[in-house]
Amino acid sequence: MWSRMKKGDRGPSENLGSLDKKFLWHPFSQMSDWEAEEPLVIVGGEGVYLEDVQGKRYLDGVSSLWCNVHGHGHPLIVEAVSRQSQELAHSTFLGLTHPSAILLAEKLIGLAPEGLTRVFYSDSGATAVEVALKMAFQYWQQKSPQTRRKKNFIALTQAYHGDTLGAVSVGGIDLFHEVYRPLLFHVQRAEAPYCYRCPFEKTYPECEIFCAGEMEEVVRQHAGETAAFILEPIVQGAGGMINAPPGFLSRVRKICDEFEILLIADEVATGFGRTGKMFACEHEGVRPDLLCLAKGVTGGTLPLAATLATEEIYSAFLGPRESKTFFHGHTYTGNPIACAAALANLEIFERQRTLEKMPEKIELLCRELKPFLDLRHVGNVRQAGFMVGIELVLDRASKSPYPGEGRIGHQVTLEARRRGLITRPLGNVIVLLPPLSTSPRELQEMVRITYESIRAVTESA
Ligand code: PMP
Repeated sequence: MWSRMKKGDRGPSENLGSLDKKFLWHPFSQMSDWEAEEPLVIVGGEGVYLEDVQGKRYLDGVSSLWCNVHGHGHPLIVEAVSRQSQELAHSTFLGLTHPSAILLAEKLIGLAPEGLTRVFYSDSGATAVEVALKMAFQYWQQKSPQTRRKKNFIALTQAYHGDTLGAVSVGGIDLFHEVYRPLLFHVQRAEAPYCYRCPFEKTYPECEIFCAGEMEEVVRQHAGETAAFILEPIVQGAGGMINAPPGFLSRVRKICDEFEILLIADEVATGFGRTGKMFACEHEGVRPDLLCLAKGVTGGTLPLAATLATEEIYSAFLGPRESKTFFHGHTYTGNPIACAAALANLEIFERQRTLEKMPEKIELLCRELKPFLDLRHVGNVRQAGFMVGIELVLDRASKSPYPGEGRIGHQVTLEARRRGLITRPLGNVIVLLPPLSTSPRELQEMVRITYESIRAVTESA
């Protein structure tokens, strides 16, 4: 509707902008800054482009917050959503079932690491995590009287798992999470494998993944009362696109096995091809006990999440006793339209051989990112597949960060927007996270605009 009203007509855009400022409260936004800026009103999406109400097109450099997979408006997903809406838009999943959810569960189990056999739906990344935490906790409560002490969790510093209170409890980003601490349950922390700013002042690879040894120590001390270790495999996204060194993830799996604690892999961001494989756990042949999926599951079109569990966990919830039930569910759990979109998303992976095309594109992206290190204020460039973080620093030698008030990342984002690229920073880290369908030419264009925007902002300041 808006796209039809927009061309050459500033009226609705200005009106929408002021209505937005009058009535809305945006997520993760300092609203006093928002109110001072002109809101960008997006009215359309096609392929890797978004279009604003003025008709200006932008490359979607963050896959609409890390969820778009095959581009906007993919006809197969549009068709599936339309068909499913006409057949059945929604019916409860409590006590009933429906074809799209069943078929999708079968597909997900077929794709996930072997040994995950059960799918529990919810509707966002945070709820997928919340479900995993509750399952892990209740599993040990029900497994045997001897395991009832296992009630706690271990998580990494810089972790991000969503914004509901359980997910915030395991989160480790002070800026986002500290204010809520009085509301949260206690969690043991192991240090993130943040090689650029190593908390142990070591250097990879000479360190031989020293942090994994320290992590093992935390597990050893607390295993008796720990239900699960939760982590974002391979890349800690919101913490600043921190990539774990090879071998870290498989060490975590080994340690969890040794000390009998569950491993929860939060693949909300890394899942569905983002790191080059369908799931990041595949890079190190790891099978978690619980796997959290969301974002890309519907190709970035509708909210849907899934927590996958092993049969061992599932069977601890069976029994004649009502109290063994997993007491969790949402009104829109397993929504048929979202499940139909997810089925279409997975079909596109097959039809377009999306994953087979990734290595070449990842290689290209890697090459294109090389010149960034020539920029005076780029301290570190991190890439895992199509997840890129470019850390800006005031001074490269001392790695001194830009002060938060200057909002350097935000300045770069605004500059990139003027040049036709949508991105969103994580503090001083510029994020580039293109849809998997991005063509080589579009990829080069995204990188070029990012480079020029960083140079324009950091070298004029
Ligand atoms: N886990 C991870 C690893 C994430 O990156 C995110 C979102 N960025 C979440 C959980 C939360 O997902 P949602 O925003 O859908 O609740």
